[in-house]
Amino acid sequence: MSETKERVRVAVLGLGGMGSRMAGRILGAGHDVTVWNRSAERAAGLVERGASRAATPREAASGADVVLSMVRDDDASRGVWLGADGAAGGLRAGAIALEASTVTPNWIAELARAVESMGAALLEAPVVGSRPQADAGSLITLAAGPRNVFERARSVLDATSGKVVHVGELGHGAAAKLAVNALFASQVSAAAEAIQMLRSCGIADDRWVGLLTDLPIVSPPLAQAIQGIARGRFDPAFPVELVEKDLAYFVETASSSGSISPVASAVRGLFANAIAEGDGGANIHAVARVYERRMSGTG
Ligand code: NAP
Repeated sequence: MSETKERVRVAVLGLGGMGSRMAGRILGAGHDVTVWNRSAERAAGLVERGASRAATPREAASGADVVLSMVRDDDASRGVWLGADGAAGGLRAGAIALEASTVTPNWIAELARAVESMGAALLEAPVVGSRPQADAGSLITLAAGPRNVFERARSVLDATSGKVVHVGELGHGAAAKLAVNALFASQVSAAAEAIQMLRSCGIADDRWVGLLTDLPIVSPPLAQAIQGIARGRFDPAFPVELVEKDLAYFVETASSSGSISPVASAVRGLFANAIAEGDGGANIHAVARVYERRMSGTG
């Protein structure tokens, strides 16, 4: 990969399935990368590739122009930014705090106040796509926040993303990301339900797979989910437990903004069942196994 023209000091906080891959892309683009993860051992591969390791989020942030957080949820993000030795305390004036985790608009509003009190600026950067897209640097970033901050963060966003969209002011990035995930989770759930009905009618799997995946109403990711259900392969990329978290955040955000969410609430119930039945770590389309267990009388 070619060296970036603008070399930026980037701290990456959170090296899970997504953050580790995004840190690898930023490193590969030629930026100076410092990493931190709650479970320190997850940093080893990136350190071998040239990243520096920080002992705390605060230490990671203290030398950085851009601090990117990619952790599980609102609580994790709060801990990473505002906890003891949190990154907010290390932000230098003029630095950019990039929150890429899928979180709520309400938390973004609170985080913005903390970041701005340090003389730094917050930009939202949640991503659409999963581990394969993070590996390939082809995520879609839904950035939100001040335009000038967005422009200053572009070289880092471009390292992880095939497409970067500026969706609006702070809070709009989280809202957009939750809308995308609720839409996809609803589609996968509807596909699982349709497939169960076709199976119950006695239509063989090799008949309905081609029928459904060739339809113009079925997107390539939904077609992949349908094929995964047919093959019984549920290797995690976007795990059920994170989908359920995002649906809960969607329902909460719809309520706090004055909207309603009957579809997302019902779909969340299905994903909660999948977790209760042991599929929290399986991929999103494992929601189909809730139907399979009901039909076989095992759930
Ligand atoms: P993951 O593999 O489960 O990793 C979660 C990360 O969060 C780990 O680094 C974990 O640290 C950290 N974490 C969890 N709780 C924490 C806490 N209380 N304090 C500090 N760190 C904590 O999740 P992921 O797939 O990378 O997802 C990260 C974010 O991206 C989530 O908001 C998710 O919704 C979003 N997202 C995921 C996908 C996807 O397809 N997976 C796609 C787009 C967006 P440890 O290693 O110590 O546990």
